[in-house]
Amino acid sequence: MSLKILEQFKNPDLCKKLLDRLNKEVESDIRFMEVCGTHTVAIFRSGLHSLLPEKVIHLSGPGCPVCVTHESEVNAFLDLSAKDNVIIATFGDLIKVPGKNGHCLKNAQAEGARVEIIYSPFDALDIARKNPDDTVVFLGVGFETTAPIIAATVLMAKQQGLTNFKVLSFHKLVPPALDVLISDPETCIDGFLLPGHVSTVIGIHPYDFIGAKYGKPAVVTGFDPVDILQALLQMVRSMKDENPAVINQYQRCVSEDGNPKAIETMYQVFQASDALWRGIGRIPSSGLVFKDEYEAFDAIKVFDLKIGECPSLPGCKCGDVLKGKMTPEQCPLFGKACTPAKPVGPCMVSTEGSCAAYFKYKVD
Ligand code: SF4
Repeated sequence: MSLKILEQFKNPDLCKKLLDRLNKEVESDIRFMEVCGTHTVAIFRSGLHSLLPEKVIHLSGPGCPVCVTHESEVNAFLDLSAKDNVIIATFGDLIKVPGKNGHCLKNAQAEGARVEIIYSPFDALDIARKNPDDTVVFLGVGFETTAPIIAATVLMAKQQGLTNFKVLSFHKLVPPALDVLISDPETCIDGFLLPGHVSTVIGIHPYDFIGAKYGKPAVVTGFDPVDILQALLQMVRSMKDENPAVINQYQRCVSEDGNPKAIETMYQVFQASDALWRGIGRIPSSGLVFKDEYEAFDAIKVFDLKIGECPSLPGCKCGDVLKGKMTPEQCPLFGKACTPAKPVGPCMVSTEGSCAAYFKYKVD
């Protein structure tokens, strides 16, 4: 696709036309949830948050992988980083996430823990190769978008006989979490903007239940302002249907069935299992654990880690923010005790977190 066509998705005149249409067609209040952290940032950075009609109420959802990583999972990273002969390999966005007593991997690193920031899971294999007397643990955090590449890394480690490479699999699956949120009467969600990048892998049909079971609209969409406005307009129109089908606004990237090869790779190594989500709790079949055949790579089994419920960070309302029950500004710590420079919770740490987006971009 040419750059000229892609630029159209940022076109201000087209945005204005779509906003005018939206204003005309919205009849009553609509509470829409954008599930994805990238959408949260796109809506704020483009200014759409302040331009949307008053009746279109924006809720941010549980789509920032760092934010939904449970407190006990963060504590497991920290415990592992304190072990001798362990090197933690991680993407940079996890390094400042606070765990017990406000401790984070960055503090642990300053105190001597071996924590390496990497840009691809394959980099962790290089670290394992160069440190044969140590165990390299890659922190597997992310959704369906990330899991296939991590599965491919495990397959490569197996093929290369790299026995000192392990993965802490805390991957989460998006559709089961949305099923929990939409059935929560306190959340009152009228429709979802669904993450386009997750659907490049899973396609659109795993979300069919939103229309079939709850009669609510759901639109898979991209990350430019025109994408988001088109998706909102499609959502408003589809609200009149009794059992609306999932709409694919992001057809330039998402095919109906996603990427079957990526799905096959993911399920070659992992299988669905219950998972803990920050603020939401345990959700059936919403995580990925290693299949028995690959358990030699499973850091949870190798280090006999126990992941269970544990107290939330004192004062932090990330759980309510992630469920769309509270906006970041309603948290008493927002902008005072909690800022991006000194974050209390993960929603302020991650660049895709709702609290960080509100802090950085919200002007009204
Ligand atoms: S402002 Fe800080 S403490 Fe409050 S919910 Fe957000 S991250 Fe948590």
